[in-house]
Amino acid sequence: MKMHTAQRRRKAWKAEGNPPCDHPQIEEECYDDGRPTGDYVCTTCGAYVKPDQGQPTASTTEAPQASETTKQSFVRKVLMKLGL
Ligand SMILES: [Zn+2]
Repeated sequence: MKMHTAQRRRKAWKAEGNPPCDHPQIEEECYDDGRPTGDYVCTTCGAYVKPDQGQPTASTTEAPQASETTKQSFVRKVLMKLGL
């Protein structure tokens, strides 16, 4: 994706109220002459994304939720044992 396209996408995304984006698809950013800038941008919101951090970041945000539900079910089990 061209630098200018990413820039335009970021502006458009901000105009939409800058909603959260989990960057489902990223592309290598390149100059107008086609040379890569070395950066990667989200094709949805235009944000700079590190290619190896896209997925792990999304899964770490899910991890606390998972442990939270595990804790909740554990508490429920304890309460059931106590007959409450
Ligand atoms: Zn995005």
